[in-house]
Amino acid sequence: MNIQEKLSQILAKEIAQASNEEIYHALMAIVQEMASEKERTDSRKKLYYISAEFLIGKLLSNNMINLGIYKEVKEILEANGKDIAQIEEAEPEPSLGNGGLGRLAACFLDSIATLGLSGDGIGLNYHLGLFRQEFENRLQKETPNPWIEEKSWLKKTDVTYPVDFGGLKVNARMYDIEVTGYNNQTNKLHLFDIDSVDESIVGDGIDFNKEDIQKNLTLFLYPDDSDEQGRLLRIYQQYFMVSAGAQLILDECTAKGCSLYDLPDYAVIQINDTHPTMVVPELIRLLVQRGMDMDDAIDVVSRTCAYTNHTILAEALEKWPVTYLKKVVPQLMPIIEVLDDKVRRKYEDESVTIIDRNDTVHMAHIDIHYGFSVNGVAALHTEILENSELNNFYRIYPEKFNNKTNGITFRRWLIHCNPLLTDYIDSLIGEGYRKDAAELEKLLAYREDDAVLGKLLEIKRRNKEALCAYLKETQDIDISADTIFDIQVKRLHEYKRQQLNALYIIDKYLEIKAGKIPASPVTAIFGAKAAPAYVIAKDIIHLILCLQEIINRDPEVNKYLKVVMVENYNVTKAGKLIPACDISEQISLASKEASGTGNMKFMLNGAVTLGTEDGANVEIHEAVGDDNIFVFGASSDEVIEHYAKADYVAKDYYENNAAIKEAVDFITSDKMLEVGQRENLERLQKELINKDWFMTLLDFDSYKETKEKALAAYADRKAWAKMMLVNIAKAGFFSSDRTIEEYNKDIWHL
Ligand SMILES: *Cc1c(COP(=O)(O)O)cnc(C)c1O
Repeated sequence: MNIQEKLSQILAKEIAQASNEEIYHALMAIVQEMASEKERTDSRKKLYYISAEFLIGKLLSNNMINLGIYKEVKEILEANGKDIAQIEEAEPEPSLGNGGLGRLAACFLDSIATLGLSGDGIGLNYHLGLFRQEFENRLQKETPNPWIEEKSWLKKTDVTYPVDFGGLKVNARMYDIEVTGYNNQTNKLHLFDIDSVDESIVGDGIDFNKEDIQKNLTLFLYPDDSDEQGRLLRIYQQYFMVSAGAQLILDECTAKGCSLYDLPDYAVIQINDTHPTMVVPELIRLLVQRGMDMDDAIDVVSRTCAYTNHTILAEALEKWPVTYLKKVVPQLMPIIEVLDDKVRRKYEDESVTIIDRNDTVHMAHIDIHYGFSVNGVAALHTEILENSELNNFYRIYPEKFNNKTNGITFRRWLIHCNPLLTDYIDSLIGEGYRKDAAELEKLLAYREDDAVLGKLLEIKRRNKEALCAYLKETQDIDISADTIFDIQVKRLHEYKRQQLNALYIIDKYLEIKAGKIPASPVTAIFGAKAAPAYVIAKDIIHLILCLQEIINRDPEVNKYLKVVMVENYNVTKAGKLIPACDISEQISLASKEASGTGNMKFMLNGAVTLGTEDGANVEIHEAVGDDNIFVFGASSDEVIEHYAKADYVAKDYYENNAAIKEAVDFITSDKMLEVGQRENLERLQKELINKDWFMTLLDFDSYKETKEKALAAYADRKAWAKMMLVNIAKAGFFSSDRTIEEYNKDIWHL
């Protein structure tokens, strides 16, 4: 295809005369045509990756990279006075995910297509996404995040399936987004929706009538579940997704001439966390409806479904009251009762039942008993599942448990987001690492090469300058590329401990005020959305925004320290922040972060990790060695023991450690109350002193000490550059291509 000609032809005008939107839409048409031509013909066996979230990010540039036309298009645009970065601005970011779990699903789709595997995604088409985060009076405000335009990557199909809720029948319509592989075939992301959805029912912020299912079903991802209507709506959404998905899967198998008894030879379903769990009873129901007897149906489904666990946080393991399921999906309850009955007849253990004594259905238990594989997402996480969290299940089914350490696609998280570094790596070791990430290790040969180390520093510097310009333009914030960029971006959760970072910042601020001037100036950058009903998480955002205000306008302090909270953290912003990072903050309480994938993105872009021995940090530590990472804090064994003995008392740390006391007291100081809300700040302070469930104060000293070491190490530029190089070189293991190869070898067998 002659892209230049095609582009002019679609635009029906000179490229130079076209608007960014027009060019974006024209390029979208070209990409869609090229992607369709590479559409895969299904192999006998196919993977279905079912997930409530697909945090895919903007698609234009990534698709162009995967189709091999990015550079050519960029040059054509440049020759016509257009900047590809501006064209990218015209694309809205699809808001179909929340955080790491959804981003993982997106990286997996990229790798599945790149490896030429036959596998599609199944999810929901949320019209208004998660939500858009705005800051107002230093508080998070949620607004709808509409992203679907007249011309979009979504293709409406004629495929529809009836979905039956107790008393309410709706029609699911399938929309498709093409998923391009890097130099390979095109797969699909199927997103289900209903035609009757009505965005106009959303009133103030993200409020809407939660009972009007016909109009609200696919409006938002994770509608507020702090009330019963919200929880019921989540069940409506989940069932809608899996029922339509299950019908699609059975249709595709029958179309291939498969006898439904042979379903496991034609389909494998990867259940991404517990949200799609109802696919298990739904498939059983559909098979029985098509004439199979119940025991056979259970056997067939159990050999088709595999489950990925993403968390050990108790509150995140979904449990639904029987009464809710009876109301929304009455046809599934008799099947769930049979599934429970079989478990009860086989095992005495009350802790592994599906329906507990309080008439609550444990979704993960369905997945574990009636799936053939259970995987954790990092070595430590899987170990904790096996040895403590799911130990009762592990003892029944040791053969089902396996680990698949998460990964990220290098196409988005290096080639697209960091072209300077990519080009430089190409020039040093060739392009082979793009398909075989392990080849990045060839960079180790340049460990002592001053020219290479200098160049790495120069690239980092340019990326930092680009971030400065971006933050100036988007949030009118002034920061300097001469400072250390210390970045913590991820969903806001107490276990991720943004509050620990904030306490450090207060401590540093107080030191500077007391005349202790730091050797190297630091810019602390945060980005995080808090769930709308998560009060303390929103209080932590308030704390950080107040610190930003106080510190940045204080001329005594702002020479040495600045704080930036980036608004509406999403994939697009991640792509701008990560290449500019010096220190990657991965400071969750050990044992709580299942894997993390942000940690991998930062490493790949030459940031050095400051982290606890948690999730995949453990594997990053092993890969780079003690000299190329800064590790601190209590170990997961220690933490698990504290929980078991219930012997962690935050107040003891508060009362016996002067620095901690001063920092925590500062939260409600007059200075803070000048800019902040007393209610929020007092609540947060009380939480830290009296509860601190995630042991922030326990790790404070160790964090401070280790962070000071990292900041001091930065001053030796050459030694730092060496650390950067080792981190990049050792990042190959964290390619999602490696992860997907393991899934396929051990679980999917495509
Ligand atoms: C990678 C990513 C995440 C996950 O970050 P963690 O640090 O692993 O929690 C969340 N949000 C976005 C936008 C991401 O790109």
